[in-house]
Amino acid sequence: MKDLKLTARNASEPTVITVGECRFGEGLVVVAGPCSVESEKQTIDTARAVKAAGADMLRGGAFKPRTSPYAFQGLGLQGLKLLAKARRETGLPVVTEVIDPRDVSWVAEFADMLQIGTRNMQNFALLKEVGRCSKPVLLKRGMYSTLNEWLNCAEYILSEGNPSVILCERGIRTFETYTRNTLDLSAVPAIKELTHLPIIVDPTHSTGRLGLIAPMSMAAVAAGVDGLIIEVHIQPEEALCDAGQAMHPQHFSRLMGRLRSISAFMKGETDEAGKHSSTNE
Ligand code: PEP
Ligand code: MN
Repeated sequence: MKDLKLTARNASEPTVITVGECRFGEGLVVVAGPCSVESEKQTIDTARAVKAAGADMLRGGAFKPRTSPYAFQGLGLQGLKLLAKARRETGLPVVTEVIDPRDVSWVAEFADMLQIGTRNMQNFALLKEVGRCSKPVLLKRGMYSTLNEWLNCAEYILSEGNPSVILCERGIRTFETYTRNTLDLSAVPAIKELTHLPIIVDPTHSTGRLGLIAPMSMAAVAAGVDGLIIEVHIQPEEALCDAGQAMHPQHFSRLMGRLRSISAFMKGETDEAGKHSSTNE
């Protein structure tokens, strides 16, 4: 892990990154919302529902990197305007994906945080561009990438002058086909050893199976993650993108209660460990 001049943990304290009122690296931050922005009603209703369930931030794609060129590609500018409206209505900060370096500066005017998707993790032109903007960046792990490759991509952003990078483990490709990807939960404590940057987990794209999202979210919190990003849709069966893996708001709300309990328990454990280590000094 040499050459990680700005990203390596070294002796530095973990970095806390502020997005609106959310503090990544301090407690549990839950980001929720639809895979893609589809319409005003779908966006606003979903935003209100995740806010009521206790989410801290809204997600929603206006530019969708799809496997097929014929699949729904997102609403673009219109989608960004709807996200901005949802923020005004709910107060939730928004994260949205940017897929083209030429779009970074104007998309940043609408978003509170810019997402780099798994397929673009090593798009170095895009990384340099978000490195020059003033918004925090959510850097998803490439589905074929090692931790070292991932951290080097964070280094690209930091070395351009943007210190605010949050890492997101979203599953990697393995020989298993039951799940969409394989969630590498060990990345959570490993990343905490290697870097001072916060890390969140995406249980939706890593599993691609509705029934696995709640257990993997809870496991991630027990593993010490700083946050989660979960797809929620007001009418999951109608979703234009990733319909099979979007949570219903009611289920999401129930999960939020459990996550807050586990997070409080984990905080107690950390405080206790801190007390013991200071007594031993
Ligand atoms: C997303 O979060 O909308 C997304 C496309 O995720 P990923 O890049 O991890 O596939
Ligand atoms: Mn999705």
